[in-house]
Amino acid sequence: MSKNWIVGFPRIGEQRELKKILELFWAGSCPFTEVENTAKILRERHWKYQQNAGIDHISSNDFSLYDTMLDTSIMLGAIPRRFRELQDEALYFAMARGTKDAAAMGMTKWFNTNYHYIVPELSDEDNYALNADKIIQEYQEAKSLGIKTKINLIGPITYLGLSRRIDGGESLALLHKILPVYEALLAKIATLDSGIIVQIDEPYFAKDADPKVLSLIKPAYDRLAKVSESIHIVVSTYFEHSNEATKVLVHTPIWGVALDFVHGAENIASLPLIAAHKKKLIAGVVDGRNIWKNDMDTTLHLLDSIGKEIASEDLMVGSSCSLLHVPFTLKYENSMHPEIRSWLSYAVEKLDEVSLLSKLYFEGEEALSAEEAKQVGHNRHDNQSRKASSLIHDKAVQKRINSIDRWERDLDFEARIKHQRVKLGYGILPTTTIGSFPQTAEVRQARRAYKHGEIDQESYEAEMKYYIDTCIAFQEECGLDVLVHGEPERNDMVEYFGEQLQGYGFSQNGWVQSYGSRCVKPPFIYGDISRPKPMTVSWITYAQSRTDKIMKGMLTGPVTILNWSFVRDDLPRSEVSKQIALAIKDEISDLQDAGIQIIQVDEAAFKEGYPLRTEKIPAYEQWAVRDFKLAVSSALPEIQIHTHMCYSDFNDIIRTIEAMDADVISIETSRSGNRLLKIFKESGYMQEVGPGVYDIHSPRIPEVEEIVTQIKKLLEVLPKEQLWINPDCGLKTRKWKEVKPSLENMVKAVKIIKEELRE
Ligand code: GLN
Ligand code: ZN
Repeated sequence: MSKNWIVGFPRIGEQRELKKILELFWAGSCPFTEVENTAKILRERHWKYQQNAGIDHISSNDFSLYDTMLDTSIMLGAIPRRFRELQDEALYFAMARGTKDAAAMGMTKWFNTNYHYIVPELSDEDNYALNADKIIQEYQEAKSLGIKTKINLIGPITYLGLSRRIDGGESLALLHKILPVYEALLAKIATLDSGIIVQIDEPYFAKDADPKVLSLIKPAYDRLAKVSESIHIVVSTYFEHSNEATKVLVHTPIWGVALDFVHGAENIASLPLIAAHKKKLIAGVVDGRNIWKNDMDTTLHLLDSIGKEIASEDLMVGSSCSLLHVPFTLKYENSMHPEIRSWLSYAVEKLDEVSLLSKLYFEGEEALSAEEAKQVGHNRHDNQSRKASSLIHDKAVQKRINSIDRWERDLDFEARIKHQRVKLGYGILPTTTIGSFPQTAEVRQARRAYKHGEIDQESYEAEMKYYIDTCIAFQEECGLDVLVHGEPERNDMVEYFGEQLQGYGFSQNGWVQSYGSRCVKPPFIYGDISRPKPMTVSWITYAQSRTDKIMKGMLTGPVTILNWSFVRDDLPRSEVSKQIALAIKDEISDLQDAGIQIIQVDEAAFKEGYPLRTEKIPAYEQWAVRDFKLAVSSALPEIQIHTHMCYSDFNDIIRTIEAMDADVISIETSRSGNRLLKIFKESGYMQEVGPGVYDIHSPRIPEVEEIVTQIKKLLEVLPKEQLWINPDCGLKTRKWKEVKPSLENMVKAVKIIKEELRE
């Protein structure tokens, strides 16, 4: 009578089978029926995994060929006009990926995860109509295997909340139009079987409480829950607490709520209400977003405190969110340090945790089979070992953390920039790039061959140096002011540093879906971070030795390194970030000692770490800014610190950006024009700024006149003394044949502007 629940399961496949077949299909190398076959095999395999683990509530419709928000658009018939000629898979993939005639729909991050969904495009003219085929088919498929699934849906309020109105209206205002489609869907589901559970995901409720959103909940869920007596609706939220929404939901005839107690511990406050209204509670206690083995004893305590309010018959044990956000299975992680591996748990292993926890909680240790008891014993042992392991706990790091006496640079910006301008001697509108140059097939091949031991260090270095020389020759010829070495040695801006830091681990098969068929393999921080030796100094000093111009050293900042990794859960993120900051600080010391005069510390993911709830933002900003400053605190006043961020909307965070105290910040702006730049002027921002003057995300080569116009627009907002001229972001995804003329045009444009300014 154990009772447990998995919010959703990854669909990409344990060997990324879905990715592989989709890409074959897109390349025209196999018919769509093969995609369908693979999808069917995967669904069956994934259900079986859950069934074998003893999961009671397994989902259907958590599968998707691309994205579940996109599936919801199809379900609702919310098809943008430009695709209306198309049908079936052609329509589906055109919406996701575009065709030569119709641009793809936009894509953006799913809350604060690294999963990206397809943003619905809605307008008042849409005619919504139910298409329930996928949902019914998957339910029947599972049923024919003897599994009665719960059916997962994305809720109407979340769907609208995350969509975009192309006619300028308000998305949520369309609720009255889509609710009838949801009602029709539920009516159809009710005909399939009696007592079907429908999990309706409303993670939008976990964001800041918005009176508008709250006012929609009761009318919507009153209607949905009234469609059929025989359907049990569970509203599911995750990534934060959703207390305000729960307060409303308990007054609707829904069956229960699924809440995240890992990332939304505050949900505890809703328990008395949930109990008073006799709603079921699915307690999400196994982390669906991180890769650490659950500490079952701690979780049992948590369940005990939940159980003080919620009667056993109304309680279930679940994952905190869909397991989509963690890698599939540890089965293929054979080259990991066995001790480290024993601390991890991917999606398949989390199934066992949920199942065991529910058994332990509801039936007690006596009810366990010998095999299960052994698993529990392992769990205790592994968690114990993790607490004490010397792989994790480094006294030297802790000592250093406790004796930090300098948190920021000497002198303030105004004093520093005077030294820098004298020493660096650049004029107005200095030109530079963001760091990387095109990663050619040869460069990638050389890195791969070196990694696999096919070429020795000497030939590898020779190859990289040849590339660096090529980059420098081009930049000098082109007339750029501040040069970069091109980053050929880096596969990825986080992994490159992670690989050289103590305390960082890497998986062989830890793929997580990022969007569509695209997966990433985030590194993970398991222990105290330190830097055994310099990470970039030899490359940068080599590059500097090849030119008389200034060579900029390139590093990734602590907050970005943290935000793009799985992070240990036995220390606050703010402490981990501090450790990384110290490692970067040492690197900066070494770079300046080696004669490097400008150092860029990229914080591409600074904004990604922002909490979902406003009340938690100040705490994040406090340590994120603190640790950026700590990382650059070793830089002498005359050393110029740059940073780079890949976005442009700084309206809410301009004071925070200013507080990071970088001498120069380069940002993305070319797509948004100077509208968003005004904030730099209005707020009296003083540091130097390099707003990207052309879009590197497109292969298009910008004309000189275009860039001239762009720079003039910038000059309307910011004084020439404050401006740097650079592209939007790194150039590694572009081709040389695009990069060369683009940068040449950029330099020409600056020349024209300077001449005009002189007149
Ligand atoms: N220096 C890095 C590069 O060019 C920055 C990349 C980024 O911000 N995403 O490529
Ligand atoms: Zn960028």
